[in-house]
Amino acid sequence: MLSRAGWLAFGAEGSDMIPPQKYDFDPNVICFTFDVEWASQPVIDDVRSLLDDRGIVGTFFVTHAGVDVGQHERGLHPNFRRNGDVYRLLQDASSRSDDEVYEHVLQTVLSFAPEAIGARSHSLFFDSSLLPIYEQIGLEYDATFRLELVSNLYPFWKQHNIVEIPTYYADYFDMVSQKTGFRAENLMLDAPGMKVLDFHPNLVYINAPDTASYDATRSFYHDPERLAASRHEGAGTRVLFLELLDYVASNKKTTATLGEINAAVRAG
Ligand SMILES: [Zn+2]
Repeated sequence: MLSRAGWLAFGAEGSDMIPPQKYDFDPNVICFTFDVEWASQPVIDDVRSLLDDRGIVGTFFVTHAGVDVGQHERGLHPNFRRNGDVYRLLQDASSRSDDEVYEHVLQTVLSFAPEAIGARSHSLFFDSSLLPIYEQIGLEYDATFRLELVSNLYPFWKQHNIVEIPTYYADYFDMVSQKTGFRAENLMLDAPGMKVLDFHPNLVYINAPDTASYDATRSFYHDPERLAASRHEGAGTRVLFLELLDYVASNKKTTATLGEINAAVRAG
């Protein structure tokens, strides 16, 4: 679904803000990405079917083993925090070096999706020491950097041969800040630059409008029936997500997986 025509249009518009890098994809491409966040498979399937119904392919950053996303891309969502399930699997974790912890967490999460070539860290954790480990285990891109609602975003190279694909919007950001009111028009999707959108399956499932509503469902996080019964009415994550999917489908906007963006950057 990548379009060279979009690239040409990008160059033709011209602006001092236009980056020198011009890659072979629509510079206004929209990428649907998901931090799986330990969601149950039925909740993941709900998001999947909404994408599949509209022929949109997304990227799912997985947190655990056995996540089935069908034709969609799987990346990694490593949790480096000390209360994380993967961290706590490491013997003598408290006496290990940071690099040992990073390698353990990344290798473990990679075993959940061995084909993955990209990652976005839980809690957006970043340390430049991760990059050589990414390279060593075969990861090619990172999507951890989030620049909320900043226009003119485009991928760039980091050290150790890693492509950074910055994230433009996250449901969690909106849930906390109430920045857009969960209204698609406030996401400024027509502004120049790529739009990597980050959603969480549980937040979509319950149509979370704010952190209090989300927190109220944590005790039955893995119970799809109770979650469905708690689905919020009115503006919220699911309503926005559906609005965005329909906007993309009805306006024939270009979409891509982050793997496709990474490949285009590397070919460029
Ligand atoms: Zn997360």
